[in-house]
Amino acid sequence: MSDKSKLNPKDENSPNDSEVITLLEAFDRAVSLLPPGDFSRELLIGLRAEIEAQEEMIGDARDMIEKLEQVIKKVTSPANRIGTFLGSPARDTAQIVVGGADYYCNVDPRVSLTKLQKGTRVLVNEAYVIVGDLGYDTAGPVTKVAEVLGADRIRVGSEHGTQSLVLQRSAQLAKAPLKTGDEVRVDSNYRVALEVLPRPEARDHYLDVVPELPWEKIGGQDEALQAIRDAIELPLLHEELFQKFQHATPKGFLLYGPPGCGKTLIGKATAYNLTKQLRNKSGADMREYFMHIKGPEILNMWVGESERMVREIFATAREKRREGYVPFLFIDEAESILGTRRASRYSSILSTLVPMFCTEMDGIDSLNEVVIILASNRADLIDPAILRPGRIDRKIKVNRPNKRGAQEIYRIYLTDDLPYDRGIPGMEENKGAAIDALISRLLEKQFAKREENRLLEVTLRSGRKEALYRSDVISGAIIASIVERAKAMAIKRAIASGNDEGISETELQVAFNAEYLENEILPATDIVEDWLKLIDYDPENVVKISPVRPLAGGKPSQSSSVI
Ligand code: ATP
Repeated sequence: MSDKSKLNPKDENSPNDSEVITLLEAFDRAVSLLPPGDFSRELLIGLRAEIEAQEEMIGDARDMIEKLEQVIKKVTSPANRIGTFLGSPARDTAQIVVGGADYYCNVDPRVSLTKLQKGTRVLVNEAYVIVGDLGYDTAGPVTKVAEVLGADRIRVGSEHGTQSLVLQRSAQLAKAPLKTGDEVRVDSNYRVALEVLPRPEARDHYLDVVPELPWEKIGGQDEALQAIRDAIELPLLHEELFQKFQHATPKGFLLYGPPGCGKTLIGKATAYNLTKQLRNKSGADMREYFMHIKGPEILNMWVGESERMVREIFATAREKRREGYVPFLFIDEAESILGTRRASRYSSILSTLVPMFCTEMDGIDSLNEVVIILASNRADLIDPAILRPGRIDRKIKVNRPNKRGAQEIYRIYLTDDLPYDRGIPGMEENKGAAIDALISRLLEKQFAKREENRLLEVTLRSGRKEALYRSDVISGAIIASIVERAKAMAIKRAIASGNDEGISETELQVAFNAEYLENEILPATDIVEDWLKLIDYDPENVVKISPVRPLAGGKPSQSSSVI
């Protein structure tokens, strides 16, 4: 029953004057005064139900109006602003920034001022009183640290012509180890750095695995390996002696030569062997950190960010040194990022990259800090500033293997523990000697200056034409691939026959032929630079290179390269 309608009955049945009763209660009392069986009593009871229903309706309507009033109040009251809390300059006073303007303001006693942290978001009312703590924002603009200024401030955004700003560190960043180049998320008022973002591209993006690679796993490169060991191993392992003689040591070296001849392999072997020797010398558990920087691949990433990236690469290398690693910076296809202007269509980038790289390199004390290895097929295109004494002044040629080198490389891949065809002469009696002899026989055929081995014709500026044979463009990569092909053929044969068969001499020769016919040894396009990489001629002297036979595998039929 609704109690909304109240009465103050004045009749003698009323318990007392102060009692307040509802209309329905009064009605009930009146009905109870009628004698039982009175005709009007029935009538009044019916009337009562009607009054009761009406009272309920009025009550509901009143509730509804109240709710509506609340909604109207909500939608017409002004929104609370959100600001960034900067600190508490005095008791009960907060400094905040709202929409770019600073305020000294009061704090609602229900909000604990001592719990507010620098950089946290706060809710303020119309009077700019802090009425709520919203905690740290989880989204917002990201910028790069240009400089760390003491313990609590950083400078950001000096690159690409953007305005430089000094930010405070938020409470949660107070102890974070920040450095130049780090990415930080900033509050929407651009006053406080809130979070350091991990930098996958700088951290381990360039990291490459160095397998177990003793020098013996590189064939036919004795001279190059000796030059590296003299240039890098000796100064590191006999540091005191070099200091005593005041002998200048290089900061790294340039490996140059045709593709597939082992430049990357040698770079990794240097890292493996050097670290191993340093580990043995110092007794400390040193590990290599091999940063493999692929010139063209990252050139795109560098567009507009070149300086930062160079700084970052060197900073990562130095940091790894501090962490106890031996860092190696291997820059593949170095001419694409460290070339002279004519080496690249990105000539404007190179004009900032090369000096930047030189500055960073000059900042390196010695090999002890970072070992830099450049690799290139076109060393003639590398900017001479990079190759000046005191920088990368050791240039080491990684040649195509000659017959003896090819023998060594074949032997690295045709190991004693592989299964060989029993028909190969001497295989049953002396396996090692039989494999050596097998390789010699293969090389007799493969290095023969016969018509079937003729591959290219080079026209020189003097008008002279020279023939190049398959062996003139052979490489470690080709030999490794020939052996893999032969293995695949032997496996197929073993499956088909169900017998325990091994690699045969014929398979190795067939694999050799297939490698030259099917593989990508000759460039698919007529891009001059690609053809020049193949041959060991001075590019200035070559007028034309053309294949002797039409190319297989859907390559262009005209298949010649005019320079
Ligand atoms: P590119 O100029 O195309 O980068 P590269 O000179 O760096 O070529 P690598 O990548 O080192 O050549 O060689 C490719 C593969 O060929 C190696 O992983 C290795 O299997 C084999 N290889 C090349 N040269 C040799 C070598 N001298 N001894 C043993 N294996 C070799």
